[in-house]
Amino acid sequence: MSAIGTNPELAEREAAVLAAVPKASLIGDEWRPANGGATLAVEDPSTGDTLCELPDAGVEDALEALDAAAQAQHDWAATPARARGELLRRAFEAVVERQDELALLTTLEMGKPLSESRAEVTYGAEFLRWFSEEAVRIGGRYADHAEGTGRILTRRHPIGPCILVTPWNFPLAMATRKIAPAIAAGCTMVVKPAKQTPLTTLAFARILQEVGLPPGVLNVLTTRSSGDVVGALIADGRARKLSFTGSTEVGRVLMAQCAERVMRTSMELGGNAPLIVFDDADLERAVEGALLAKLRNGGESCTAANRIYVQQGIADDFVAAFAERMRAVRVGRGTGQVDVGPMIDHAGREKIQQLVDDASARGAKVLTGGHALDGPGYFYAPTVLDGVALDARIMSEEIFGPVAPIVRFAQDSEAITAANATEFGLVAYAFTQDLDRALRVSDQLDTGMVGINQGVVSNAAAPFGGIKQSGIGREGGPEGLEEYLTTKYIAIASPPLPPAMDMSRARG
Ligand code: NAP
Repeated sequence: MSAIGTNPELAEREAAVLAAVPKASLIGDEWRPANGGATLAVEDPSTGDTLCELPDAGVEDALEALDAAAQAQHDWAATPARARGELLRRAFEAVVERQDELALLTTLEMGKPLSESRAEVTYGAEFLRWFSEEAVRIGGRYADHAEGTGRILTRRHPIGPCILVTPWNFPLAMATRKIAPAIAAGCTMVVKPAKQTPLTTLAFARILQEVGLPPGVLNVLTTRSSGDVVGALIADGRARKLSFTGSTEVGRVLMAQCAERVMRTSMELGGNAPLIVFDDADLERAVEGALLAKLRNGGESCTAANRIYVQQGIADDFVAAFAERMRAVRVGRGTGQVDVGPMIDHAGREKIQQLVDDASARGAKVLTGGHALDGPGYFYAPTVLDGVALDARIMSEEIFGPVAPIVRFAQDSEAITAANATEFGLVAYAFTQDLDRALRVSDQLDTGMVGINQGVVSNAAAPFGGIKQSGIGREGGPEGLEEYLTTKYIAIASPPLPPAMDMSRARG
């Protein structure tokens, strides 16, 4: 593990970036402490130290935020699409300009290496640019009744005030993936970031204010009582949509609450991605792709390769090359020259250890890693497990860490059956140089997304999302905007037929 510690110049930059974040909830046009003054500590997962205190908002704050969103809804929906799009474009430019500052903030609160935080800012900013362009393409439809008795006109309206709940693993991108289409569609919103990583969202909210977002369109609550706060927002009934990214477990609870209000939901939930390497794969590409799919975000990603299936003919070469690369991974505080930062917290790291111990107890061979690294902070050694039993817990539960369980297989059908043997269906990866096989396998995999010969699928222009218990709905692409729109059908009676014209004298 690389040395932890900061030089004085870096410490000064960290302090400056932290000082610039509003330490308050945003409600209407006001940055406020929580009613009652309770606070929430945000921690640096590489040291366990407190970075700063934020308001611990409660139900009263939540309802005030919803008041602001509900009040702003009418005027915001009436704001021309061009104005909403241009605001998003200014936000894109401001975020890109402040990439270093936002990246450092993300690294401080979430732990990932600075290079990855910068990549997240680039990715997150793309949603602002993509939806700035989509805002002006919200169309409708015109058609005649088949019977010829009337006309069909459809208009797209913003669905109304939204509740947006984000996880801690991509603090900026998970926020922009929801906020940008909501702004483009003309919706107002109350955003609740994860309690571990609210700082990047607050800094982004300040940027949106600076580029001219009207008061009340975006409200942000930081809280440790997410169940109470989100529950109250849903129960109130004025919000018309919940967009949630997080665990399947919490997603189920929220869908049940939304059902009481017949509220529209978008659910981006857990994953358990299989990554399949076929005999005919390009070895180097497969190793690179597997490393990316496994280690991006330290493995703390819903799209992380959770299970690696390798065909017998290539297995020895793949496992040797992959394990060698995993042994060389540098772990340490994200501000240093490292490849993997700390896990988000103690509980996350504990769960990883339990999954590794269970797999080892069922016969898996630990080729590298297999243990936590000394603190402070929640570091875990990059780990490769070979010959993992199919019934090991690690094959069915999200690892959310830099651990790669490998299973060898003979026939294609074995790999497909094993890959689909899960209640999750977010993404799968396949490595092969045979186009027919790639297309056949893509059809057979029960997931919302498939990566062919690549270890990352995310793109602002593409529909990100899962099937089965990985979720409902899509984020990004034209589909991402649909989630915030509703359709109104206007039935227009055909006018009475005009009297027949005398065509007897009509000429050429
Ligand atoms: P989580 O525990 O479900 O939390 C996600 C968000 O929900 C946080 O803001 C959290 O707030 C809030 N929350 C927790 N309990 C709640 C409740 N009872 N009512 C309302 N809100 C509640 O998930 P996580 O540990 O942060 O994130 C990891 C999970 O997210 C993984 O399963 C991962 O696969 C999934 N994920 C999915 C995608 C995708 O696009 N499919 C993307 C990223 C992550 P607190 O922070 O206050 O608990």
